[in-house]
Amino acid sequence: MKKILVAGGAGYIGSACAEYLLDRDYEVVVFDSLVTGHVKAIDPRARFVQGDLADRETIIELCRKEKFDGIMHFAAFSLVGESMKNPSKYFRNNLASAINLADAAVEGEVGHFVFSSTAATFGQPERVPISEEDKQEPINPYGESKLCFEKVLKWYSRIYGLKYAALRYFNAAGATGNYGEDHSPETHLIPIVLQTARGKREKMMVFGEDYPTADGSCVRDYIHILDLAQAHMLALSAPESGHYNLGTGNGLSVKEIITAAEKVTGKPVAYDVAPRRPGDPAKLIACSDRARKMLGWKPTMESAEAIIESAWKWQLKHPDGYCDR
Ligand code: UDP
Repeated sequence: MKKILVAGGAGYIGSACAEYLLDRDYEVVVFDSLVTGHVKAIDPRARFVQGDLADRETIIELCRKEKFDGIMHFAAFSLVGESMKNPSKYFRNNLASAINLADAAVEGEVGHFVFSSTAATFGQPERVPISEEDKQEPINPYGESKLCFEKVLKWYSRIYGLKYAALRYFNAAGATGNYGEDHSPETHLIPIVLQTARGKREKMMVFGEDYPTADGSCVRDYIHILDLAQAHMLALSAPESGHYNLGTGNGLSVKEIITAAEKVTGKPVAYDVAPRRPGDPAKLIACSDRARKMLGWKPTMESAEAIIESAWKWQLKHPDGYCDR
């Protein structure tokens, strides 16, 4: 049985990945500070260690002692807007604390390191779909902090032989039967659309309808968290280090998401058009051919309706999220 450390396993994507591994008989240790994570998002089959990656000795000691076969690193801050206001918070946690985890992986002789990277490392793309070779020029500290850590991993791989996969998610979305999206404050599109559909919000904002897209609203590539979990598991046994873009390859505009949500929920979603949100590129769509070919990855939930429906079911079951704040 493989033993995996899931750093950030109480967060949105980390909790889904921990569950996915446990369903497949992996042994999982969740390490989380609970600063943004939720106790109720920790799979009860996992062992939980509360801690912060900033605490270098603790994480190094844990990896020396436990002899993990792999580390999955989800423990990061992920709000673009916040990173523009407080870059220090992003570089300290997403880069400096992540280096402690990379050092722990080396000290503990951990076989594989799977890192949650992001499409934000590409900045304003020159073309879509975006492939792994395209230029990475982040336009915010969040994307830059993730790109810096991709580079740390590249050097650790060369110098220490640490095997890693950097998985660049496009827009993570949806829920599993047990775990879903609960951020405070919530800034992500799909949970906000669904909160509006069930009347928790009177109306929502569409940030910009003057983008060079078919309906003028931003286009994103929404990928279900279970499909991300599948990619993480496959990346654990990849023979070589690599970078992979993860999306379905289908671009959906903000307005298309609203229409799909109205169809799934049977309820109207009221919105106003607001100015563009700073830092938003017009279109982000992944080319995931490399992950399909090299990892054998096959996304299973490619339609907007299926993704939104899973998120809708979770919201109906958890109208106020995990209720632990
Ligand atoms: N968006 C929107 N209204 C909202 C939240 C988001 O129009 O209340 C737009 C946002 O401008 C972006 C897209 O929805 O174009 C996806 O945003 P999200 O924050 O979910 O993910 P991001 O692309 O920033 O990672």
